[in-house]
Amino acid sequence: MTGRVNFLPLHVANQIAAGEVVERPASVVKELLENALDAGADRIEVEVAGGGRDRIEVSDNGSGMSRDDALMSVERHATSKIEAAGDIARIATLGFRGEALAAISSVSRFRLVSCSRERTVGTAITIAGGKIEEVSDTGAPAGTAVQVSDLFYNLPARRKFMRAKTTELSHVRTVFLWYALAYPGCSLALKIDGREGYRLAGGASLADRVRELYGSDIMTDLASLDWQDGDLRISGYISSSPLSSAGRAEQYVFINSRPASAPLVSYALREACSLPDSSRRPLVFLFVGLPFDQVDVNVHPTKREVRFKRPAVVRDGLIAAIREALAKKQAPGLPAAPGRPAGRVGETDAPVAPPPAAWRLDRVMPAAGYTGGGQSGPPSPDAGDAGNLAAHNRNPGKQGPWIWFRLLGRVGERYALIETDGGLVTLDQRAAHERVLYERLVSSEFSAPDCSQTLLMPVTVKMSPADAHNLRRHLPRLNDLGFSINDFGDDSFMVDALPEPLVDAPCRELLVSLSEGLATGAGKTGEAPHGWRHTIARAASRLAISARRRLSLDELRRLVEDLATCRMPYVCPHGRPTMVFTSLRELDRKFGRG
Ligand code: ADP
Ligand code: MG
Repeated sequence: MTGRVNFLPLHVANQIAAGEVVERPASVVKELLENALDAGADRIEVEVAGGGRDRIEVSDNGSGMSRDDALMSVERHATSKIEAAGDIARIATLGFRGEALAAISSVSRFRLVSCSRERTVGTAITIAGGKIEEVSDTGAPAGTAVQVSDLFYNLPARRKFMRAKTTELSHVRTVFLWYALAYPGCSLALKIDGREGYRLAGGASLADRVRELYGSDIMTDLASLDWQDGDLRISGYISSSPLSSAGRAEQYVFINSRPASAPLVSYALREACSLPDSSRRPLVFLFVGLPFDQVDVNVHPTKREVRFKRPAVVRDGLIAAIREALAKKQAPGLPAAPGRPAGRVGETDAPVAPPPAAWRLDRVMPAAGYTGGGQSGPPSPDAGDAGNLAAHNRNPGKQGPWIWFRLLGRVGERYALIETDGGLVTLDQRAAHERVLYERLVSSEFSAPDCSQTLLMPVTVKMSPADAHNLRRHLPRLNDLGFSINDFGDDSFMVDALPEPLVDAPCRELLVSLSEGLATGAGKTGEAPHGWRHTIARAASRLAISARRRLSLDELRRLVEDLATCRMPYVCPHGRPTMVFTSLRELDRKFGRG
């Protein structure tokens, strides 16, 4: 300390300021993409090497800059986007702070080549750690290309804070996707270590782009938002089915085409979808449009968080728009029913059919045939004798939850009623099936190659970019365990074999569930707490018979038998109970006979 107050040298001041704008490679990609979009580009190429830690390059066909403008652009507080304080109140561009290029060039080796449309000679500027090294004329196409190498090379402390290449890359991808969704009209490409990651055609609609990124299947699930009230316009898509709303789902929110987060939007989403908590989230691509002076984007240096002038209006608009979209999706052609909790996302909305006559016990029980244990043996001679104890299924191991059981039938869509030696059991079929699947998958045969069953027809599945990224990271693990899943590129995967217990699982749902399970299964150290086999089995077991499929009585009986042989028959792998037991003694007590 000198004890005297001095101005900081400019490049030091810039480095300090850079801390706010440039956090990691993805922030560089974000700022450069925003600049290209603000310059009116309709073709942008992004290239990264080493997760962006080694090199980032963004080139565009936008307006380009004259030599003077290019030199100005790398100065702090130099911007062409606003001129006076009043302009801050109505920002129509993605950038306005005039900080990004100054900040980025002060913490990297930086090269900018730009040529405005009216000229043929461009300008190249080379900067290292904030110091201009060279300015020269150069031949260049109209537009701008910025190359950022060795990010934080001059700030070892910051460099240390960058994560592994794959982590940084996944942040870069995320940024790329946000802008790809926000600007479907712009052709965008992402190259990763020399390989093509994405190449998205320009001139597209939002629907086109969503289809291109997520596969066309996804559209059948999406409800389209199209709502307007005065100045406020809400558009985009929201998922309506349980699959995409289960667990973590991507929520893309754009305010005036700016990727944004606002707590108010999350609140409105939960409210409109009647979601009990934040653990179930619908997939959304939500665009909120309103006059520029109605939204304050100057809240945070990264411009990610926004504030609304009239939050209540926006909130109510969002809720109305989402409810209307979901109601229309459920009952096309009908006006939205007021008061109805529109679209309980996460519930199946299929009408509940009355149980078919075949489920009446007198007709079904004999036909279903007790086989007296044994999974696929022929019906035993006393199969029809439902009242006879000898016909009851015996639990061979005697370790299970009952000594014998008799299937009585089912209650509603989900539950089976079982009489046992100890009383009455109400079984949650799905939870029970999850338990059985899980235990089969964690058992030692699971990884044996001969448990892998080749599918008759390989299935190709297009995944969401985030899910694809996750799955890709864990492919070797999955393939070790009897899956055969191949990366087709472009976020598509081909499945040609599955572990035997899963051969009937719908591949798309299976892959989504695996990717989500693997993402959350990995602990802080990157290892799953109970090993990958358990994580994978738990995720896969979600694909147990769903509410959609009704088991035959025969299948149900086999399920009860299988459950009885499980090590932990009482809970599903996700911790929910598989059965509720009412003992005879409890019944006696309730009837006043105890
Ligand atoms: P801001 O975007 O907040 O204005 P930047 O530091 O990101 O600040 O950019 C400074 C200025 O440089 C911009 O206002 C713009 O005039 C110019 N500029 C930056 N990138 C480009 C580009 N890709 N094409 C044309 N002009 C650009
Ligand atoms: Mg900018």
